[in-house]
Amino acid sequence: MTSQIKKEIEKLREEIRYHDYKYYIENQPVISDKEYDALMQKLIKLEEKYPQFITPDSPTQRVGGAPAEEFEESKHIVPLLSLSNAFSFNDLEAFDKRVKRMLGLPPDRDIEYVSELKIDGLAINLTYENGVLTKGATRGDGFRGETVTNNLKTIHAIPLRLRGERIPRLLEIRGEVYMLHKDFQRLNKEREKSGEPLFANPRNAAAGSVRQLDPKITAKRKLNIFTYALGEYKDGRIETHIELLKLFKSLGLKVNPTSKLCKNIKEVIKFCQDWAEKKKDLDYDVDGVVVKINSTLLQEKLGAVTKSPRWAMAYKFPAEQATTRIKKIIVQVGRTGALTPVALMDPVGVGGVTVSRATLHTEDEIKKKDTRVGDRVLIQRAGDVIPYVVSVIKEKRTGKEKKFIFPKKCPVCGADVYRPPGEAVTRCTNISCPAQIKETIRHFTSRGAMDVEGIGDAHVGQLVEKGLIKDPADLYYLKKEDLLPLERMGDKLASNILSAIEKSKERDLSRLIYALGIRHVGSHIADVLAKNYSSLDELSKARAEKLSSVPEIGPIVAKSVELFFKQEGAKKVVDKLRRAGVRLEVEKKKKAPQILAEKTFVLTGELEEFTREEASEIIKKLGGRVSISVSKKIDYLVAGKEPGSKYTKAKELGVRIINESQFKKLIKK
Ligand code: NAD
Repeated sequence: MTSQIKKEIEKLREEIRYHDYKYYIENQPVISDKEYDALMQKLIKLEEKYPQFITPDSPTQRVGGAPAEEFEESKHIVPLLSLSNAFSFNDLEAFDKRVKRMLGLPPDRDIEYVSELKIDGLAINLTYENGVLTKGATRGDGFRGETVTNNLKTIHAIPLRLRGERIPRLLEIRGEVYMLHKDFQRLNKEREKSGEPLFANPRNAAAGSVRQLDPKITAKRKLNIFTYALGEYKDGRIETHIELLKLFKSLGLKVNPTSKLCKNIKEVIKFCQDWAEKKKDLDYDVDGVVVKINSTLLQEKLGAVTKSPRWAMAYKFPAEQATTRIKKIIVQVGRTGALTPVALMDPVGVGGVTVSRATLHTEDEIKKKDTRVGDRVLIQRAGDVIPYVVSVIKEKRTGKEKKFIFPKKCPVCGADVYRPPGEAVTRCTNISCPAQIKETIRHFTSRGAMDVEGIGDAHVGQLVEKGLIKDPADLYYLKKEDLLPLERMGDKLASNILSAIEKSKERDLSRLIYALGIRHVGSHIADVLAKNYSSLDELSKARAEKLSSVPEIGPIVAKSVELFFKQEGAKKVVDKLRRAGVRLEVEKKKKAPQILAEKTFVLTGELEEFTREEASEIIKKLGGRVSISVSKKIDYLVAGKEPGSKYTKAKELGVRIINESQFKKLIKK
């Protein structure tokens, strides 16, 4: 019996060691964090029950991975520990109780905690001697890391010299290096172009960039940092964690502005609940909340176990990665005829929702990953991005998996498909392919475009299948008799749809341009075009050279607009729209004074008098621009009730913040 348990423990350790290597050394995990955590929890439980089998080299006793040989080793003065994990609010309450018991405090006494976002990056250790950065290292196994000083020196948010009057003689600090979403996407796009393997997520990209042998490569990757913990420091006593964060700030180190002092564990739980929702607004990944006892005296009293301090806990948000099996691969045809392979999978919970489809991107991506039907795969969901397959778990193959052959004909209409040399996407060559028509019309009627309320995807599908509409202009010729026989349609709905179609004839020119679905023309570019061309006719005659002289219009967009209007089909659509009475010109008489010209706005929180769409519409009408993310370049942040992280960021960047009544004054309402 016991020898069997010993074997099981050894097997688990082997498995965890393998995953540690993949994750920490190769930056190429093959299982999700959730599954890794489950393996680790299983081992912890077994070792708790059979402590005689604990060995010093067990993964439960160690932090992270050993330093790789390519780098010079760096010994930390004070070890960099990991954190114990909490996977539920019950776990957090149990932590609070345990702490009070160990400190001999009554159960009803409140303990102050600091809640901090757990940045999903890579822990590093910085050493400053007399205010000058002398060493930077990865966490490694907690005692010894890899010396990556020159790489870390390329990160602008790491000061090479500390600021302020009271510079400590020796200071060791810990922080998390991470990559912003936009920089991650840019990096992967570049890698795709040059045929290099893509990074699975910003964490892997950040870790891969810090652990580079050539600092020039790190410098190009645009990394960032938040600092959050102290190692060695002998220049005085710090009473609380909040005080420590203030000290960091005064020394010119970057700290996360969202950290919050909580009166008790209830407030900590509220913080975790709030951020599970708000984290999608951040432009970097966080995977949980780190909860730390505020008082350093209490921290010292509690001390640490081998791997982690007893006074802190990492609460993990529900996982956004999971593994499942591919049952089938299908190919979808989009608005521009692009063929996208999609994996149909056994349903699996990811970050709180059940997922059964994931995009496989392109034919090349399938080849590169060698994705087969029947494979177990790691999938990921991030924010509102479509779930995608991160990697194939080849170790789990049984031999029954089948290779996928990319179709040579359009799976919807049977026409030939074509992949232009040098492009990643294969397209259906038939412009009247029903799949393309459906997607074109769905886009045309969508909220940001002509906004035809009441008409659903299923209705559009049936109208196209019955041959009642072949292009968006046909919508304006529909009669009630056409709509009534459709499934899920009644007399009232049919009338409502017809009046919504009628109403859409008066939409702004910019919306119409956007609605046409010209490649590379999103809603902002459509606004720019509508400001420079007063009618669709004028725009349709514009040549690429002329178009690209308009500010913000590059050669690719210009060429795409010219090509679009050259198509016979497009000319017909414009004609039919005109005959139906759709407005094709800028509404001259009503053109509002452009009092917000050149001004960029970001909206956050709830406004009382306007929805987000309405407020955006007004800003645009008055000549302004609406952006979704806060940067130094924006002019105003309009903050409604319960503003999100954009508010904190705007404050940090010194962006002008206005409330609803100031906004109303600005738009003269
Ligand atoms: P951890 O992720 O559980 O937490 C500790 C780390 O949190 C710190 O070292 C630090 O890097 C980070 N952190 C971020 N913000 C912080 C803040 N404000 N204050 C303090 N720390 C902060 O521990 P770990 O040892 O880095 O990694 C273990 C985790 O990594 C596992 O739970 C698992 O999710 C993942 N992992 C996955 C695999 C895999 O194969 N998928 C393999 C190994 C590890």
